[in-house]
Amino acid sequence: MGYDKSIEAFQEAYSVIPGGVDSPVRAFSSVGGTPPFIQRGEGGYLFDIDGNRYIDFVQSWGPLIFGHRDADIEASVIDAVQRGLSFGAPTTVETDLAQEIVSMFDTMDKVRFVSSGTEAVMSALRLARGYTGCDDIIKFTGCYHGHSDSLLVQAGSGAVTFGHPSSPGVPADLTKHTLLAQYNNIQSVKECFAQSQEGVACVILEPIAGNMGLVPANEKFLEELRALCDLNGTLLIYDEVMSGFRACLIGAQGISKVKPDMVTLGKVIGAGMPVGAFGARAEIMAHLSPEGPVYQAGTLSGNPVAMAAGLTSLRKLKSQPSIYVTLAARAKRLMQGFQEAAKSAGIPLETRVRGSMFGFFFSSKPVENFEDALENNTVTFGKFHQGMLANGVYLACSAYETGFISTATSDEMIEETIAIATKVMAEIASKE
Ligand SMILES: *Cc1c(COP(=O)(O)O)cnc(C)c1O
Repeated sequence: MGYDKSIEAFQEAYSVIPGGVDSPVRAFSSVGGTPPFIQRGEGGYLFDIDGNRYIDFVQSWGPLIFGHRDADIEASVIDAVQRGLSFGAPTTVETDLAQEIVSMFDTMDKVRFVSSGTEAVMSALRLARGYTGCDDIIKFTGCYHGHSDSLLVQAGSGAVTFGHPSSPGVPADLTKHTLLAQYNNIQSVKECFAQSQEGVACVILEPIAGNMGLVPANEKFLEELRALCDLNGTLLIYDEVMSGFRACLIGAQGISKVKPDMVTLGKVIGAGMPVGAFGARAEIMAHLSPEGPVYQAGTLSGNPVAMAAGLTSLRKLKSQPSIYVTLAARAKRLMQGFQEAAKSAGIPLETRVRGSMFGFFFSSKPVENFEDALENNTVTFGKFHQGMLANGVYLACSAYETGFISTATSDEMIEETIAIATKVMAEIASKE
């Protein structure tokens, strides 16, 4: 495979865009090499500008559950485009999509649309703070909730502590209300509650974490979180920007019995268009402007073209619940194949599947939280990623991401990927 055109395009991009990319992970910094510049997608495949074809397990980082260029979604987008790109005024398609969503989630009476996952979470936090009158929030190390200020936080010296900004440009004043706990560790959450002096507005987590690799929360942990939130008058927010409509139709709520107070959505909800959303019961949502005093707005929020894509995608998903069974079977087969490949190469590998989401760590012990995840072998991951890419398999370019199966990812593609993984792992083992 040649990458000449991508190398040139990357250099050119570099001269006018910081790092050559509009979102850092795309630069391939943690795996090395040049990111292929994409020309087009078709079903389960991506094609780059050098003419290379890849089986795509990234799917735009989750949104494309029907793969590239799904005919129904494409038709609804073209239809919407032909009536105008944006009006900044109410349209019925927003209500249609909102109705679909609230009818699926029994924890949501109302939903507000925004343009990204970051915006959804940022707005949900403001609403939680406005509703409870408390400033502190609890989040977990390894959970990603977008790039808004109060969530760009890393742990200090102890595992449980008030957070420090993890990026220059974020004032410490803005992160001092963010308490950090350890995922799947209820004791650490209790300590956060104990440390908070002014009260905790919300506990936010990815109930199926996908941004430290794939690390689902234990049911018992979620139950205890729910109880702690109830005890303290704190809202429990599920950030399902990734897992919503991915792990199963209604995300973690379809897998676990625990119910959150608020849910944030994104990615699949827009089917590849920029859409985010947050929803809760009516009593909470009534605090949002213009019904209530908590301000939140967006010029392009509820954009009609994006809403049309989301509506078609969600209706398709809802009308074919067996999709998730098929996708999960393929994800399981893929991870089983990776396991066998790793075993015969003598490489330790931990795998996880939740619906259409899959994850693997080059590690010999089960991963329960971010600290465990950090123990994986990122050097082996880098070699594996490069080897797979060179053989036409497009995997997320970081060891701390989740992979995705789309309805366009066929059984044949899965078997082909397993065969390539077997070859690549054997090569890695032979060079060690
Ligand atoms: C991707 C993601 C976000 C951020 O969404 P953007 O659309 O990238 O702003 C927030 N939370 C979770 C769980 C995500 O996976």
